[in-house]
Amino acid sequence: VDIGDGTRVLRAGAHLPEDGPPEDGLPQDGTPLVPSPVFASTYHLRGEPHGDFQYGRTANPTWTHLETALGDLEGGEVVTFSSGMAAASAVLIQLLRPGQVLVLPSDCYYAIRSLAEGFLAETGVVLRRAESRTEALLEQLDGADLLWIEVPTNPRLDVVDVRRLTSAARRAGVLVAVDTTTMTPLGLPALTLGADLAVASDTKALAGHSDLLLGHVACATPELAQRIRSWRTSTGAIPGPFEAWLAHRSLATLDLRLARQAANGLAVAGALAASPVVRDVRHPWLPGDPAFALAGDQLRRGNGLVSFTLADAEAADRFLGASRLIAEATSFGGVHSTAERRARWQADDVHPGFIRMSCGCEDTADLLADATQALTAAH
Ligand SMILES: *Cc1c(COP(=O)(O)O)cnc(C)c1O
Repeated sequence: VDIGDGTRVLRAGAHLPEDGPPEDGLPQDGTPLVPSPVFASTYHLRGEPHGDFQYGRTANPTWTHLETALGDLEGGEVVTFSSGMAAASAVLIQLLRPGQVLVLPSDCYYAIRSLAEGFLAETGVVLRRAESRTEALLEQLDGADLLWIEVPTNPRLDVVDVRRLTSAARRAGVLVAVDTTTMTPLGLPALTLGADLAVASDTKALAGHSDLLLGHVACATPELAQRIRSWRTSTGAIPGPFEAWLAHRSLATLDLRLARQAANGLAVAGALAASPVVRDVRHPWLPGDPAFALAGDQLRRGNGLVSFTLADAEAADRFLGASRLIAEATSFGGVHSTAERRARWQADDVHPGFIRMSCGCEDTADLLADATQALTAAH
């Protein structure tokens, strides 16, 4: 059935009316409409081990509920983790052995780069780095084992051609993992574009309220899912049931939140691009953006991320200090607008006046007015 994103996030993991009532009949009157979190390290288990729920590190009904819902949106089996980095490291550490080759964009999320350059390289995984450009990554595929891409890149918001990369990788026998954190499965269901794995930090837009850390891996095959799940069980990188429940609760409004964030992102990017004191405004859904055509082709919808550059670090700090609605904070994708001068971390290769802004769910007119007055104060 062709249903919209607002309905999909509400019905994900549940029986659609078209499927008929659940096998065990209609829910009993008086039972809650949505399940509560299950807090358990220990389950009753008599005799020979049996059933799904034996011990809290192996399985939890609240994870299962969220994983079923995310699995519907991703189009594959999902394993949730305690954070985005726990999910990413499950893929990178479990699927790569010494001597195998990882192709990694030189501008992907900094913690992934440092895991690869530190731990993975030390254990003998061979790194091939290239800029996040389709051609540059294609050139690295020969003889590789895993291609990691991020769409759009964070913080510079470049977009690569996922379909071209996954089909070339398939021909070359290379697995592809896509970091879809900034898009969520609604904007980029990467498995449907041919990826083997979609990896996300649900800390960002998916959970979206700046109050928890969580991550997930969606797998194209049961074999991959089994390897990723067994990694979680043996390392213990499990989500807390309360975090999983909160993320599932937040999923219900993902479509609404992304719609407002995307509208705000486009409005703010347009206003910034029209200002003579702002350079290099990036928002893939802004007509004229270098990624506009690819974003329209591959991404199902927009988000609230905008990046831009002011004259210098001082101008950027004045902008951040003058804003009333945009909190100076790292991370993005939440209901509150945030922004930061990325160069303060000395982790990304960006201009000192470079700002990454995440438009939240404020009223568009209010956010525009605030961004405009902050820009005036900056110069
Ligand atoms: C934040 C982020 C991560 C890491 O997620 P955590 O939940 O912070 O561990 C990975 N990839 C991208 C693109 C991110 O923005």
